Amino acid sequence: MKELLKGGYVEDGSFPLKPLGKYIHIILRTRTLSETIFRTDEGLTIETVKAGINDNNEIQRVIMSKRKRIAAERRIGREFLMNYKLKDESCEINQSMCGRCLDCTVYGFAAGEKGKETEGALKSRVITENAYSILPYEMISDVRTFNALSELGTMMEKKEKKEKIELTMRQSLGENEYIKPEVDFIDIETLKDLRFAEVLYALGNILRTKRYGAMDSRLGKVKNEIIAIIISDAEIFGSLELTKKVWDKLEVKEHILEENIVDEKILESVKELLDGEFCKYKIVEKNDLKVLKDEIKSIYLKPEDNLISLFKNVKSIFDK
Ligand SMILES: [Zn+2]
Repeated sequence: MKELLKGGYVEDGSFPLKPLGKYIHIILRTRTLSETIFRTDEGLTIETVKAGINDNNEIQRVIMSKRKRIAAERRIGREFLMNYKLKDESCEINQSMCGRCLDCTVYGFAAGEKGKETEGALKSRVITENAYSILPYEMISDVRTFNALSELGTMMEKKEKKEKIELTMRQSLGENEYIKPEVDFIDIETLKDLRFAEVLYALGNILRTKRYGAMDSRLGKVKNEIIAIIISDAEIFGSLELTKKVWDKLEVKEHILEENIVDEKILESVKELLDGEFCKYKIVEKNDLKVLKDEIKSIYLKPEDNLISLFKNVKSIFDK
């Protein structure tokens, strides 16, 4: 795997203070496996865009926000770090972030609250975009009256507000818009100037995340499928451009899309769009991609063997 991804990660062990132009782009198809609400107060997030690059019609697509994606993936990563004692309990997102653990090092951290000890801030080196549904909003969404139980198993909702936890009555007895099961979103996650162990962390988080949306929700089961990985020396096209290209290529544009066909069209589109880029690149696909996924699987199956010590030795921005 180190060989397959060569050129896309920083080989030196110290924290890369200067931008080095090493990019790993992960092309993702995320499929909903249950009714899903990417919850905001107003319901689903929808955007009017052109249907395709050739198809000039306007359609409305549902958006899966980059914030939701990263929040969910970080949660999975942090769980792992906690479980294997690779992170201090006191490091918490948006509260007091240590800046030293692998998660803070990869996804960045913000300066702590006044009086707390974190120095400075660091930007994320995992760059994400909003993901777009391939099919239009009307086809993939529906409305239903929800009576969603929270994780407390009651009609109470736990609202975490900084230090204090408030219990409020859940107000979800009204109507709620949701995304149907078996809906596909296309996304690109970019790892910029990560070291190899950090790449393993980010890839592991993508493949191990099974749920987006609110933490206490029982909705929102998803599956992330990596369709291709592109290693390059500059940033490439974006997720909307890719989604539009795939739309143009699909012969059947009806819910539920055939997974194999969609994946084939994504790969074709990736190659055609790369052809228009002005950078050096390499695609990891098909059998090579399978080898890579199998390797990640076995690494996470027995983290004691290798992964934990790899993670332990990653130098933070504060280490010399
Ligand atoms: Zn931390």
